[in-house]
Amino acid sequence: MVFLIILGFLFLFIVVGGFCVFFDQAILTRRGTIYRVKTDKKRVLLTFDDGPSPEWTPKILNELKEANIKAVFFMIGHHVQKYPDIARRVVEEGHTIGNHGYAHSVMFYYTAAEIEEEIKYTEHVIKEVTGQTTKYFRPPKAWLRRGIKKKIKLMGYETILWSLNSKDWVSFNHKSITNYISKNIKNGDILLFHDSGNVSTTEGGNRRQTVKSISLLARTLREKGFEFVSIEELINGE
Ligand SMILES: [Zn+2]
Repeated sequence: MVFLIILGFLFLFIVVGGFCVFFDQAILTRRGTIYRVKTDKKRVLLTFDDGPSPEWTPKILNELKEANIKAVFFMIGHHVQKYPDIARRVVEEGHTIGNHGYAHSVMFYYTAAEIEEEIKYTEHVIKEVTGQTTKYFRPPKAWLRRGIKKKIKLMGYETILWSLNSKDWVSFNHKSITNYISKNIKNGDILLFHDSGNVSTTEGGNRRQTVKSISLLARTLREKGFEFVSIEELINGE
């Protein structure tokens, strides 16, 4: 009996783990969001979720500066309050802040009023700390009901997902992250990375491979003729 229970848990672990690692749930909720921009220009955008992190965000910022790339950081409101200096550094270095909710709660079952409250409060926190008002929102884990997306648009926000997921939170080697992206990259792609968090927590995690992949990715994609652009350049086609 005990053996069967252990076997059951193992099976569940493999199925759920495999789903998370090999399947990108954003594919299910893309409709009505910006997840890639149609363009004939070889342009891509880097995005980093779940920070700021005192350990990883500064290292990522150093790499981005070295590679001359402007990215979007979808920040968790609670982390912005906890690490205000790092949130301010992101803005000072010319990157864009996005709203990733206050507590990284999955919002699939939220009512429109609950979503509005969470977005507005996070907006307030970001504004207080950095002076920046963001118009970009990314729902935690990409889960969002279709009807709610219109409501978010009425609030003046664009919901931004991604078209290429680096899966950096499972800490693949930086060479395999770059290889995967390089093989699958298309014009107008929005790439997902993380500057904080792991499977069970939104803080910490090991982002060593994320940090290392930035310079290699910049070199590899530029050799293929791609340029890294800001979110405004990508969306407005400037
Ligand atoms: Zn997240």
